[in-house]
Amino acid sequence: MADKDCIFCKIANGEMPSATIYENSDFRVILDVSPASRGHALIIPKEHFKDIFDIDAMTAGKMFSLATEVARAMKSVLKCDGLNIVQNNGIIAGQTVFHLHLHLIPRYEGDGVKLGWEQKESVPTELQELAKQIRKKI
Ligand code: AMP
Ligand code: ZN
Repeated sequence: MADKDCIFCKIANGEMPSATIYENSDFRVILDVSPASRGHALIIPKEHFKDIFDIDAMTAGKMFSLATEVARAMKSVLKCDGLNIVQNNGIIAGQTVFHLHLHLIPRYEGDGVKLGWEQKESVPTELQELAKQIRKKI
């Protein structure tokens, strides 16, 4: 169900212009208007899902499957050296448009794109306990 105030609902459903790479009945793939690097693309479901906690597994699977095809096409055209797939959920995680989307960010030698985090220490027993708790919910 489209949200009338959602910019990605409008873009995905063709009510607002975009640099479209690909479209099918479930998704539109566009170039990001403020790219992190040349060719930065977004895969946007046509249906309004807020985030990863909201989307069904079938659509999410189709989205990642499509990402493999788009990534290969991008690599072929852009001649990038690598590619990051990023998907932000929640303000704290950097989400700014609250309609789920997958970022495909081509990477080039010396591009200066900043992603990543500082790695912290872990305690093996705590990892096992946490893994157990999460496993029970799947
Ligand atoms: P996120 O921060 O993960 O929610 O990503 C939102 C992305 O959407 C950002 O990279 C924006 O540059 C991009 N964006 C916002 N508005 C538009 C638009 N009208 N067309 C294309 N990309 C957009
Ligand atoms: Zn939407």
